[in-house]
Amino acid sequence: MSQWSIDSWRNKPILQQPSYQDQTLLNDVEKKLSTYPPLVFAEETRQLHKQLGEVAQGKGFLLQGGDCAESFDEFNAPKIRDTFKVILQMAIVLTFAGRCPVTKVARMAGQYAKPRSADTETINGITLPCYRGDIVNSLEFTEQARLPDPNRLLDAYHRSASTLNLLRAFAQGGLADLHQVNRWNMAFLENNPLKERYQDIAKRIEDTLAFMDVIGLNSENTSALQETNLFTSHEALLLNYEQALTRIDTLTGKPYNCSAHMVWIGERTRQLDHAHIEFFRGIHNPVGVKIGPTMQGDELMRIIDALNPDDIPGRLTFITRMGADKLGDHLPPLLRRVKEEGRTVVWSSDPMHGNTIKASSGYKTRNFDAILTEIKTFFDAHKAEGTHAGGIHLEMTGQHVTECTGGAYKISDEDLAQAYQTQCDPRLNADQVLEMAFLVADHLKR
Ligand code: PEP
Ligand code: MN
Repeated sequence: MSQWSIDSWRNKPILQQPSYQDQTLLNDVEKKLSTYPPLVFAEETRQLHKQLGEVAQGKGFLLQGGDCAESFDEFNAPKIRDTFKVILQMAIVLTFAGRCPVTKVARMAGQYAKPRSADTETINGITLPCYRGDIVNSLEFTEQARLPDPNRLLDAYHRSASTLNLLRAFAQGGLADLHQVNRWNMAFLENNPLKERYQDIAKRIEDTLAFMDVIGLNSENTSALQETNLFTSHEALLLNYEQALTRIDTLTGKPYNCSAHMVWIGERTRQLDHAHIEFFRGIHNPVGVKIGPTMQGDELMRIIDALNPDDIPGRLTFITRMGADKLGDHLPPLLRRVKEEGRTVVWSSDPMHGNTIKASSGYKTRNFDAILTEIKTFFDAHKAEGTHAGGIHLEMTGQHVTECTGGAYKISDEDLAQAYQTQCDPRLNADQVLEMAFLVADHLKR
């Protein structure tokens, strides 16, 4: 394999990139970004790597989730807070009901670039370039708005920095304190059919903390109970942005992508001889690769050889997204192959992207039952193969949206119009996330 350098990806074919008109402006922006402070620090990234190493060895669970695409317009504290809370609530259920340490990784603070199935979109006879995420162009359907603008890379950086700032404050500043677990009950919980199950867990946590105080374990002063670790992640699609934020860590002398703790390659850009695999093989972050239903064992092994040649636990996470009806046939041979070859990866389930359909009302949606079926099939496959179902990767929001059908409230095709707010793919709402949390916890306990 040829020598890796921070820009060796530029000599390879690359898919799903914007066609910028002004190359000089793009170069200026890249230069500027490469002098800006890193968004995350290599030492934090190593902590996540270590935790994922535990997960890879069957001693933990990865919870990764957030918007399909973050939005420049909906960039505000309540939005960030509600997604943070819903991740935390799900983690609580998994930790307590599932009795399993949970590593929390948000699809936040940089999840702005989107791969698309077509380059253009036609509405009422007018054809324009498609929307590629707010880091590239605007969702608005005008010629001007759809032009890719390099300055948006800078906007995305600043928004990611502010989002991270707030997430760090929430994680360390009291919102994540387990003593407050009862106060996390967001308004949505009021009418939730699972309210009692959740409150029962909250009560058990309170009792445990009170017991610790009584026997002198001083739960009030234990930072593990007052603070939490929340890591960030996004699909590293725009490699000019990712390169500009990749820095040599002073402690180890190794390159780390400091745009997020974890980054992943999407299903559409994971070709072995292309730019994304090339860039990823040289950075030292934990990395993910999305795996669709067409993946074969040989190709999977070549991806492992490229991205984790030394078999370091936690370095590589496979995020399977095959569809509820396909996973049962397609996943087991891959699990068997990786196990036979003695390689260590985290297996995580994205039950969203293989189950996207068009509703009769015209909206892009996903049915909650199909999502649950894919998860259940994922757990069953691991059980049968003796491998560890290591995580879950969700598109979700703390907002009260109606984007996925089904769930306890039985959202129908006709209901989707009520609160369909996503920039891109349909997300689970907070009620649906909680319902899923209990299902996953039941599987973890087994
Ligand atoms: C996504 O995670 O939003 C996405 C585009 O996923 P995939 O690459 O699996 O299609
Ligand atoms: Mn998506």
